[in-house]
Amino acid sequence: MNSSYNGQMKVFFNPDALLGLPAYGIQIPMTDGRILKIVEYLNQRNYPIISNYLSSFELSRHDLARVHSEDYLNQLFGTKEDIIKMVASTFELINSDGTYNRYTPKTASYSLEELVSKVLLQIKGTMASAREALISGESYYLGGGYHHAMSFGGRGFCMLNDVVITARWLQHLGLARKIWIIDVDAHKGDGTAELTFGDDSIRTLSIHMEKGWPLDSGTSQEPWFISSDVEIGIAAGEENFYLKKLEEGLHSLKKLDQEYPDLAIVVQGSDPYEKDQLPSSGLLKLSKEEMLQRDLLVYNFLKERKISQTYVMAGGYGEFAYEVYCEFFSNIL
Ligand SMILES: [Zn+2]
Repeated sequence: MNSSYNGQMKVFFNPDALLGLPAYGIQIPMTDGRILKIVEYLNQRNYPIISNYLSSFELSRHDLARVHSEDYLNQLFGTKEDIIKMVASTFELINSDGTYNRYTPKTASYSLEELVSKVLLQIKGTMASAREALISGESYYLGGGYHHAMSFGGRGFCMLNDVVITARWLQHLGLARKIWIIDVDAHKGDGTAELTFGDDSIRTLSIHMEKGWPLDSGTSQEPWFISSDVEIGIAAGEENFYLKKLEEGLHSLKKLDQEYPDLAIVVQGSDPYEKDQLPSSGLLKLSKEEMLQRDLLVYNFLKERKISQTYVMAGGYGEFAYEVYCEFFSNIL
C-alpha cells in the first residue's frame, strides 16, 4: 500500500518507442494509430504526458534474465539469422509451408532484427511508468502489455514479457515486494502465468476467452495452459456473466494472501470490445459500455483499497480500439 497515493494518474508515452510494424513489412492491425489517437485526445484536454523517461535508467540483460531463459536471450542478442528467426516466430510471419503470413518484406524500410531495439524501448516505458505508480499511486503507459512472451521465447506478437520483467525489476530494486497482475485482455495471459508459476510474490488474474488462441492447440500439458492464480474463462455467448465473474475474481485474488500488494499491474487489452478487428479475439464481444464497466470495476477496486495501480495497453486491433481507452480516461482523469 502506498502512503503517498494522491490519485493523479501519470501518463507515459514517447513516440520513439512506437513499434511501427508496417515499416518492417509486418501487416498486423496492431496499429500505433490507437496510441496516437489517445495522445491526441489527451493533448486536446491539456493533460500532461511524461515522455522524458527513456534515458532515466538502464535496461540490462540481467533485467531480462530474471524472466527469460539464457537460451532465448542468446538468440535475442545473437546473429542476424537468429534474431530474424525469433522475430518471424514471435509475429507468426512464416507459415508451416514456408509462405509469408501478414509479411511483405518488399514494403519494409527496416530489417526485422532492428525491431528488437524498439521492443526494448517499449519495455522501458512499462518499467518507468510502474516505478512512478509506486510514488504517486496511479500511472498509465501508452504501450506494452506483452503477456504472451514466455520464458523460452516470444509468441503472439510478444517478444519479451514487459509485465513480468517490470515486476521482477521493482522487486530487485526493493521498491515492491508483492505485486498483482490483473489481465483483462481477450486472450489468456499465458506467458505471464508460465513465468510466475510457483512465485507467490506475484499473483496473477486472467479473464479471457475460454476457447480460441492460445488455448486451441496441443494438450493441456502445453505451457500456455498453465493456470493463473485466478483464471476465468468466458465462453462464447456468456458475455452477460463477464462483469460478475471479474468482480468475483478480484475478491478471490484478494483472499489468496493476508496482505494487499504494493502494486497492481493492469494489462488492459481492448480486444474484448465487440468492434475489435482481430479475427482471433472474436469469441468475446463486450459493448463499449461493458468495456467501461470492466475498466472502472478494476480501477475502483484497487483505488478503494489504496493499492498503487499501473496500466499497459496490450491487445487492441483496428480503427475502433482507441475508443475503449478514451472512454476509460474520460471517466478517471
Ligand atoms: Zn489479446
